[in-house]
Amino acid sequence: MDEKTDILSLSEAELTERILALGEKKFRAGQIFKWLHVRNVGSFEDMTDISAQLRNKLDEIFCIKSLFIEKRLESSIDNTVKYLYRLPDGEHVESVLMEYEHGNTICVSTQVGCKMGCRFCASTIAGYKRNLAPSEILQQIYTAQRDSGRKIGGVVLMGIGEPLDNYDNVVKFLRLLSDPHGFGMSLRHVSVSTCGIVPRIYDLAELGLGITLSVSLHAPDDRSRSAVMPVNDRWGVEELMTACRHYFAKTGRRISFEYALINGHNDSREDARKLAELLGGGVCHVNLIPVNKIKERDFTSDRRSAQRFAKYLGELGINATVRRTLGADIEAACGQLRREAEQS
Ligand code: SAH
Repeated sequence: MDEKTDILSLSEAELTERILALGEKKFRAGQIFKWLHVRNVGSFEDMTDISAQLRNKLDEIFCIKSLFIEKRLESSIDNTVKYLYRLPDGEHVESVLMEYEHGNTICVSTQVGCKMGCRFCASTIAGYKRNLAPSEILQQIYTAQRDSGRKIGGVVLMGIGEPLDNYDNVVKFLRLLSDPHGFGMSLRHVSVSTCGIVPRIYDLAELGLGITLSVSLHAPDDRSRSAVMPVNDRWGVEELMTACRHYFAKTGRRISFEYALINGHNDSREDARKLAELLGGGVCHVNLIPVNKIKERDFTSDRRSAQRFAKYLGELGINATVRRTLGADIEAACGQLRREAEQS
């Protein structure tokens, strides 16, 4: 059994403590942290300004978790690249690298599988396996940047898994990602998406990290939300909206609401009216997504009905955009690649 410490998940302070305990000088920890998070080496051997003796010692105590690119799908219509990664224990997760006018953004996974059971989502069909370590979330970004040669300027936690169900590791990941001695990404360029784990929204508000919180709402009332999102039985729409209002009051950060349109389920004028009422007065933005068809379910939608719904909302004073579809030719909804890998 591998009992080595996952060095890439340690904060610089934790690493320093461990290095001092080995009888080494403090600045060594800074050097090692930089090798890991800035130069992103895959082995201790590559840390050329560290003595061979210390490198050997590090190798005995620590491991550097790496991800193996099992599949890379490149879109021929835009510059979207979808990665299927194999984790050290043989499990799989996905990331998607996307190009916007302002730069490259990557969508990363936070768990292997998901417990939340949203009916339209491929990631949850085979259930939940385990949480990802902070290092395994970071490496999705580092590996894609190295492989593609494209500088990554933004991250969205919208891949496989529920970020707030892996709260501690996700917070640790965010702190590592934004460490000025490490990758140094501003958390203004990071979005965390949740299906609505209400107590963790309150916890996150306390941290004041500067991230954008995205809430997957997908329906304007308890009846229609519970029909597609089991999490709504635990924390209903009103409780969720109260948490969102608290988050905004505490952090001053506008919440982005995700709304996946499903034909005949949540896309009528009446749904728009209820949604506008629910969000009314709140400082927010609504992202409309025509639901991606997954082969296990028969939900459908299209851009036209999304645009129609956006128009209804606009008339009611709610700011909404229809999300641009990227990489339409390389795979369907998130979680599909991993499902295929597990089934083959
Ligand atoms: N668990 C988190 C983040 C992962 S999913 C959450 O629920 O927010 C990222 C977004 O994609 C969520 O808004 C999710 O509801 C949405 N999504 C999942 N499957 C989809 C599908 N088939 N079509 C459109 N959106 C989907």
